[in-house]
Amino acid sequence: MHELSICQALVDQLEGIAAQHPGKQVAEVYLGIGPLSGVVPQLLNDAFSVARAGSCADAATLHIHESEIIVRCLSCGKQSPATANRLLCSHCGEWQTELVSGDELLLERVELEAFEQSGESSQKYH
Ligand SMILES: [Zn+2]
Repeated sequence: MHELSICQALVDQLEGIAAQHPGKQVAEVYLGIGPLSGVVPQLLNDAFSVARAGSCADAATLHIHESEIIVRCLSCGKQSPATANRLLCSHCGEWQTELVSGDELLLERVELEAFEQSGESSQKYH
């Protein structure tokens, strides 16, 4: 399953981030998914709940934001939004365009929180 391997890689990445912040766990994960990435957000969400089990992201909430498709026109050089089956320049109607965004799968932001019951007295609260 495509989405599961993506999530396993994502959890590995989150483990790496959490490892740099001792005493913290992953609370919120923000992903940007392009419509052309081939990833189904709902499946990714389901796969994430499987992949995160027992990891530092066990209690994390996954937020998926679907980014828009942007193309750059090879004729007039302008950028414009496009749809998956209509990648044309909205300025001059040219079909010769290149994709600027829309096929990405990006880890946009991760929020960490302290473990609720750490049993440590070293943490200071302001
Ligand atoms: Zn154009």
